[in-house]
Amino acid sequence: MLDAALGERISIEVNKAYRELNASCKPIVRSNGVKEWTVLAGVVAVDRMTNKLRLISIATGVKALPDFLLVRSGGRMVHDCHAEILALRAFNTVLLRQISELAEDPALEQDLVVRSSLTRSYAIRDNWELALYISTLPCGDASMELLTADEDGATIQDDDPIQFIDPSIKSIVRGRLNYSKRGIVRTKPGRFDSQITLSKSCSDKLCMKQSTSILNSMTWSLMEKPIYLKYLVCTSGQDCLEKSFHERITGDNFVPLQFLRCSEGFVDAKQTDEEQPSSMSSVKLFISKRNVVEEAILNGVKNGFYTKRSKPLRKNCAPIVSRYAQWQIYKRIKTDLPDMSYLKFKASNTQRNDLLCNTRDRLSPEGWINTFRDDLP
Ligand SMILES: [Zn+2]
Repeated sequence: MLDAALGERISIEVNKAYRELNASCKPIVRSNGVKEWTVLAGVVAVDRMTNKLRLISIATGVKALPDFLLVRSGGRMVHDCHAEILALRAFNTVLLRQISELAEDPALEQDLVVRSSLTRSYAIRDNWELALYISTLPCGDASMELLTADEDGATIQDDDPIQFIDPSIKSIVRGRLNYSKRGIVRTKPGRFDSQITLSKSCSDKLCMKQSTSILNSMTWSLMEKPIYLKYLVCTSGQDCLEKSFHERITGDNFVPLQFLRCSEGFVDAKQTDEEQPSSMSSVKLFISKRNVVEEAILNGVKNGFYTKRSKPLRKNCAPIVSRYAQWQIYKRIKTDLPDMSYLKFKASNTQRNDLLCNTRDRLSPEGWINTFRDDLP
């Protein structure tokens, strides 16, 4: 039975956890008096029997790294630090941490993950349904109606090559250019003169996850079946979400979302045009009652670990939600894993890759543009 106030309760839970974050994770008022803003997201499990909530992760952030900066990453830099993407990465790290503890101690039980009857596989406890809260509409297609005609590049016509990263792929547009166009894939928004990020907008990524699941390649190989979000909680824009999510992809292998409304405003949301986006991102992972991890992330690495572009990355710079950190846990779980790089492992996951390709074709029929191949041993 759907609890009418569910969206409200989820929003209150995530915002309460945000208020308890360390000040170093949050936007600041700069020395010149300019206030910073950010976006908040959280993944919450809802008990379908009792309607009780179990917070899994929260995250903040509005930045994405330009593609060329990933050259020295080796899986250690987090490319896309938009809050909802970080919260879902954190969800995957929580699963990996719970699974690794189950694998180490046969007598142990966890509240989210159980051992499956299938050999050496795991499942999410079947009382849980999953919700994603976001303090604003996801960037890209679902939020284009919030933009106004004075937006950068608003006057661009459909055939203007300036809006494309690859002029032969007209179903992928750069950021907010040609903002009145709907139903297309967009890269993460940024100032038009900024270095290009090839990371796709959160609308596109979330839409894809309703087909490919919110599992990453590692958790996909450990869980007995894919896991999907059931609810998306936002303060407004249900019509935009409906169009962007349910009219772009339908049919087989697509799990529709239920859009829930909430009223609570996020305390550090953008309120005026004078305010600036915060460079700081953060994640907090609620692995178990006793095991909660919080990290601030700056320029894709743990805050305090950033080095100049000409220098190598520092030891221990990888955030807990990075591909590098997740791969270390995965290798501890899969002790019989053949010696192979992360990308080779990912490529071996043919069922998931087929689903990814199929979903990309449906979202962008003219082709796809990949981000930097960020491999690690
Ligand atoms: Zn976004």
